[in-house]
Amino acid sequence: MDCIFCAIARGEMGTQLLYEDQDVVAFEDLHPQAPTHILVIPRRHYGSLQDVPPEDVGIVAGLARAAQELAVQRRIWPSGYRLVVNSGPEGGQTVSHLHLHLLGGRQMVWPPG
Ligand code: AMP
Ligand code: ZN
Repeated sequence: MDCIFCAIARGEMGTQLLYEDQDVVAFEDLHPQAPTHILVIPRRHYGSLQDVPPEDVGIVAGLARAAQELAVQRRIWPSGYRLVVNSGPEGGQTVSHLHLHLLGGRQMVWPPG
């Protein structure tokens, strides 16, 4: 399967990893939308959040745990940050490998657009 995020997680793209554990890696977004814009992904391929089967749902907690740690490391907590999981075409998802956007370092606005 030809998936850019799988390749990044395998270390094949030379992308610097900001966080890694057995199940999760994180790296800078190529087109940052905030001073801090990090993508947190599972090593295992899931096309979207909808593709995570009930028995694997713990991976979502793993992504959240990594985001907590990165937020402290990048000093965007306690000032605050936003987590985004775009899912499917109308959700604005463009890369079909589950990922969590960790955005911070500026005031976020609502609605997000
Ligand atoms: P989404 O639109 O939620 O699917 O988000 C995909 C994100 O992946 C976008 O913010 C892109 O800028 C980012 N992106 C795409 N390719 C790469 C890459 N090779 N390295 C880092 N970020 C990427
Ligand atoms: Zn993948």
